[in-house]
Amino acid sequence: MHLEKAAVEELRARLRGDLLQPGDAAYDATRKVWNEMVDKRPALIVRCKGVADVIAGVRFARQHDLVLAVRGGGHNVAGNAVCDDGLMLDCNGMKSVHVDPVNGIARAEPGVTWAEMNHETQAFGLATTGGVVSHTGIAGLTLGGGLGWLAAKHGYTCDNLIAADVVTADGNLVRASAEQNADLLWALRGGGGNFGVVTSFEFQLHPVAPIVYGGMVAWPFEAARDVLKFYAGICRDCPDDLAINAGIIYTPDGHHVVALIGAWLGDMAEAEARLAPIRNFAAPIADMMGPIPYTVLNTLFDGGNPFGVHRYWKSGYFAELGDELIDRVIEHAAATTSPMSAILLFRVDGACTRKDPSATAFSLREACWDFDVIAQWTDPAGAEGHIAWARQLWNAVEPFSRGVYVNHLDADDPRARIRSAYGPNYERLAKLKTKFDPTNFFRMNNNIPPG
Ligand SMILES: Cc1cc2nc3c(=O)[nH]c(=O)nc-3n(C[C@H](O)[C@H](O)[C@H](O)COP(=O)(O)OP(=O)(O)OC[C@H]3O[C@@H](n4cnc5c(N)ncnc54)[C@H](O)[C@@H]3O)c2cc1C
Repeated sequence: MHLEKAAVEELRARLRGDLLQPGDAAYDATRKVWNEMVDKRPALIVRCKGVADVIAGVRFARQHDLVLAVRGGGHNVAGNAVCDDGLMLDCNGMKSVHVDPVNGIARAEPGVTWAEMNHETQAFGLATTGGVVSHTGIAGLTLGGGLGWLAAKHGYTCDNLIAADVVTADGNLVRASAEQNADLLWALRGGGGNFGVVTSFEFQLHPVAPIVYGGMVAWPFEAARDVLKFYAGICRDCPDDLAINAGIIYTPDGHHVVALIGAWLGDMAEAEARLAPIRNFAAPIADMMGPIPYTVLNTLFDGGNPFGVHRYWKSGYFAELGDELIDRVIEHAAATTSPMSAILLFRVDGACTRKDPSATAFSLREACWDFDVIAQWTDPAGAEGHIAWARQLWNAVEPFSRGVYVNHLDADDPRARIRSAYGPNYERLAKLKTKFDPTNFFRMNNNIPPG
């Protein structure tokens, strides 16, 4: 990749943030993303301080025919937040959150994480649906859909995105809202990073008590069959106020367990009674449920998901958790190759299922579970075995799956899976791609080519 020195210096002069090149002190730390497997080397990194830097970066990449990658929280497991050779727009430094408590709205910049968002909104007893790991970025999660503790009660995160400021492929800033560019807002609500760089997200907020009731209950791995069948049962007719996820995980001290991680988000007076069936089921080896700050609830999965670890994911939706499926999961879980690896089930229900599939770009409006096989390890030499484990498990259960969450696709998922992630809205998204990005400038993503 050859770039004229004068052109690079001209870009540097236009920026409020730093411009990094290979060899600069901060270059290696800045190109790192959450998945340590990803090792890409952009020619330039713009550390954006504001919208003007985003515009300058987009215009420069266009003018010099560079691939552009956009980084929010850097969590995309496939590593789409960074590119080889091209220009990486690092939005991590754009951290402002403005809460309007009177109207219940928050405006946040694209470098904000869910920990930062919840910190600001909870100061007013408010929140919107956000990710269950606090260092995940609001940007990629929102644009791809957004599952979280509040989803059954208040819909996906993208359902709560009410407006956005976007730098489009021509390097201009546009507003997307119900009144202006409503088609662009529709596309941003599940269409991923295909349509431009979002520089401001405007969210609908909801009252959420600073103290809710939740946590984890765990049983030995040997109880996994009974616990997962029980879990499938309690998810049926589950009230919107009860968020309940399941996992086959390892405890920090190395015990293989099956766990239910849940929260009651309704009236605190009902919490004990609502969660009692879970806490009283069989003989748990640990019961860590109780009153918990909402901000802390959103950190319960943090410990198992640190930066600096190698990972490989496989994911899909299940409409049913039948006996044969559960048996196959358990058979492969018994052969897990790393004590950091996990198998997770997130329930999708309630408000998420009460919209029409065409109401937003995110089309999944049926009750189901998001299922994730998460292989994690620290020694790069072991990669092959861990990846093989995840693939074998996935091959065994894939026949039971229908569709996939776009934000959980990994780098080797084939094109057909990307397409299936957008479901019946794919054609409409492809037409809007032609309108807003006819040359497919924004393609470091789960791509929707113009069509
Ligand atoms: C540990 C962990 C926990 C997770 N938990 C959840 C969860 O609870 N719920 C859930 O729904 N998902 C969850 N996810 C998946 C998550 O939604 C995706 O990884 C998502 O990409 C994270 O967003 P990010 O900003 O951190 O990612 P990044 O890697 O920074 O960005 C991902 C992509 O989003 C696009 N993008 C980023 N910023 C912008 C922008 N400003 N404008 C336009 N496009 C942009 C780009 O295409 C980019 O490649 C989790 C992921 C991880 C790794």
